[in-house]
Amino acid sequence: MADYVDLHIHTDFSDGLQTPEEVIDQGLALGLKAVAITDHDALEGCRVAATYARDKDIEFITGIELSASQTDEDIHMLGYMIDIDHQRLNETVEKFQLIRQERGKKMVERLVSLGMKIDFDAIRELAGKASVGRPHVAEAMFNRGFVLSYEEAFRKYLYVGGPVYVPKAKLTPQEAINLIHEARGLAVMAHPALTGKDDLIPIMASAGMDGLEIYHPVHKRSQRKKYRKIAEKFGLTISGGSDSHNRKGRYGDIGEEKVPLEYLTAMKARREKLFAGPDNQGA
Ligand code: AMP
Ligand code: FE
Ligand code: FE
Ligand code: ZN
Repeated sequence: MADYVDLHIHTDFSDGLQTPEEVIDQGLALGLKAVAITDHDALEGCRVAATYARDKDIEFITGIELSASQTDEDIHMLGYMIDIDHQRLNETVEKFQLIRQERGKKMVERLVSLGMKIDFDAIRELAGKASVGRPHVAEAMFNRGFVLSYEEAFRKYLYVGGPVYVPKAKLTPQEAINLIHEARGLAVMAHPALTGKDDLIPIMASAGMDGLEIYHPVHKRSQRKKYRKIAEKFGLTISGGSDSHNRKGRYGDIGEEKVPLEYLTAMKARREKLFAGPDNQGA
């Protein structure tokens, strides 16, 4: 059997429902060679998984999905093979989590003004150990019967610029790339077809971005072809994964995207080269 990896997975430390241990166990059960956890603006899932995977027959790759924005769009920058103990990265993530809390309260105010009375505490509880995000708001709206599905909550209220949407704290793409590099990781733009900001790819590539996510459940075959060409043109490595959240009605189960191991090997080589030099500590 060919060797595959899944490099885009969420846990319950952000808006996924699965624990880091479950992610590792599932990767093992599927015979994957490696899995990466890429929680939104959170590192704790990686800490748990790194320890849990230590004596197991699967490689764990550290990751993060940082929220970034040039103007008011939503760009997700994946960071791979990062040092999860890097101080400035941890400080940034902690600050983001505090701001997300306040943002959650603002979204509740918007809901109330639209006649949907939901307590912030109910949303806080749904988020559990994660910081509050739109998926938790959507879930609370569904639970109270204000929408018929999680997707409807996004389609009608929570989309960027929608009536319940509140912008979150974000880095610029350049800041996200720099921070990931500071933490000795590779910066990869997530799901470009979902983001719809192709004009920024060349700009981010010249700002040092390392790769482009090609394998992603929302990417159609024609889009994969298009982004492969773009990656080639700008010398970007190719990455991908299921973007699994383990939420019903959401795309992506672990291992669903068949990402060949060779892409991870190429990413490792690129990282070696990027951080090669006299002060390379191989973090
Ligand atoms: P937040 O970081 O709080 O702005 O929430 C962003 C997350 O919401 C994304 O990472 C997705 O998991 C989820 N999301 C965004 N747009 C949609 C959508 N249209 N349908 C379902 N989930 C979405
Ligand atoms: Fe998400
Ligand atoms: Fe994303
Ligand atoms: Zn994701």
